[in-house]
Amino acid sequence: MAELPERDFEVIVIGSGCAGAVAAYVAASAGKSVLVIERGNFAGAKNMTGGRIYSHSLKKVFPDFEQEAPLERKITHERIAMLNSDSEMTIDFTSPVLAEEGKDSYSVLRGPFDQWLAEKAESAGAEYIYGIAVEELLKDESGAVIGVRAGEDEISANVVILAEGCNPILSEKCLGNPRPKASQMAVGIKQVFELPASTIEDRFLCPEGEGAAMLFVGDCTHGSVGGGFLYTNKESISLGLVATISIAEDGSRNEVPVYQMLEDFKNHPAVAPIIRGGKLVEHSGHMVPEGGYNMVPQYVFDGCLVAGETAGLCMNMGYQVRGMDFAVASGQFAGEAAVAALDAGDTSAAGLASYKQKMEGSFVMKDLQTFSKWPHVMEEWDSMFNDYPTMVAEIFNAMFSVDGQPQQPLMKRMMPIVKKRGLFKLGGEVRKAVKAL
Ligand SMILES: Cc1cc2nc3c(=O)[nH]c(=O)nc-3n(C[C@H](O)[C@H](O)[C@H](O)COP(=O)(O)OP(=O)(O)OC[C@H]3O[C@@H](n4cnc5c(N)ncnc54)[C@H](O)[C@@H]3O)c2cc1C
Repeated sequence: MAELPERDFEVIVIGSGCAGAVAAYVAASAGKSVLVIERGNFAGAKNMTGGRIYSHSLKKVFPDFEQEAPLERKITHERIAMLNSDSEMTIDFTSPVLAEEGKDSYSVLRGPFDQWLAEKAESAGAEYIYGIAVEELLKDESGAVIGVRAGEDEISANVVILAEGCNPILSEKCLGNPRPKASQMAVGIKQVFELPASTIEDRFLCPEGEGAAMLFVGDCTHGSVGGGFLYTNKESISLGLVATISIAEDGSRNEVPVYQMLEDFKNHPAVAPIIRGGKLVEHSGHMVPEGGYNMVPQYVFDGCLVAGETAGLCMNMGYQVRGMDFAVASGQFAGEAAVAALDAGDTSAAGLASYKQKMEGSFVMKDLQTFSKWPHVMEEWDSMFNDYPTMVAEIFNAMFSVDGQPQQPLMKRMMPIVKKRGLFKLGGEVRKAVKAL
């Protein structure tokens, strides 16, 4: 086994989000000396999610997470809503399958959740520095990463795990990875409203301790690409939206600022009654990578691994948003690969290659690849955000309104509404979307 050069730490982790904290926990649990540098004053200070975490990857690292982690509610109710300016059509689904072990998911608030993850890493032996940002990755003459510069300090390490989140500044500046395109990024905005637990359970028809996740499409983003989200926490509701920042092919862009979209969304008749009486206790904004597989950069380098959203690991499927389960799994794989490379005395890209094998052999790269066409389909599918919600409102208005006038058969009422949008166009669009999903 080759001798590795003496460094300040065997592993330095940049960022204590889901990916970084898990990588630190795994490496420290294997007895490696680990330093985590987190620019926030505490873990989670700067992090944001909708959000709900699918538990499968968390359970692999922390088998007892359900007893230990600050989880809000087990999500057993799924709702998908289409909004017109004054109407709502919602699919509301609940099933015991959603609560089955391995398929279960939980709403979380990133402040307490990230602090719990950091505590796990610290109790496994990782050291933490808070409140300082890494500004540069240090390299040797061959270009291998050998440490970091944070403020005045230069700290060396055999392996650096870069988990700086969705704005990959160090990845771009020091590793030469491309800056994500505007079309691959969206902006998220969220508010949290406090409400009594029983009010939340009544409003969502949930048993005690269980909760709902809700995704919205249509008027919440004023018809531009994106959507709204709502997650029930123990005693609060997380409400927000994600909207594109890209300019349409015809050069147009939605001129409504995202904070105004959120104000209008809160006043929508489908949303206002849900948050009625809630006390606003938190407001946050964050970018979201939405490019999927096509924005995954190089993530194994000599002396360095890239994990979580810095590696582009996030999927917004419209009916499902995933980033945290990818971040946790990639953090685990990065931690394990760092340990294996240190044990083998080879921290070059070749020595760290097991990270790539684990990523490619798991759901992480497989899911991103399977749905690689979806971000592009969604980006171009204008009618999903404009025409469809209006069409759905017209269909259901025609179906449910009774005004005493002699009624036409249902099909005769529906067909003009659907034909207005072009039957073939509609069929083609739906076929294309279904193929990408
Ligand atoms: C509006 C919104 C809704 C979402 N909803 C969901 C959802 O419901 N479910 C889901 O699974 N995912 C969701 N996501 C995505 C999910 O939040 C991310 O995929 C996940 O947080 C990524 O984890 P990460 O560890 O890669 O990055 P982060 O959690 O962002 O952590 C990065 C960390 O690095 C630190 N950092 C950055 N730069 C430096 C530096 N130079 N030096 C030191 N520290 C640094 C940051 O402070 C931060 O703590 C959502 C995201 C948004 C924005």
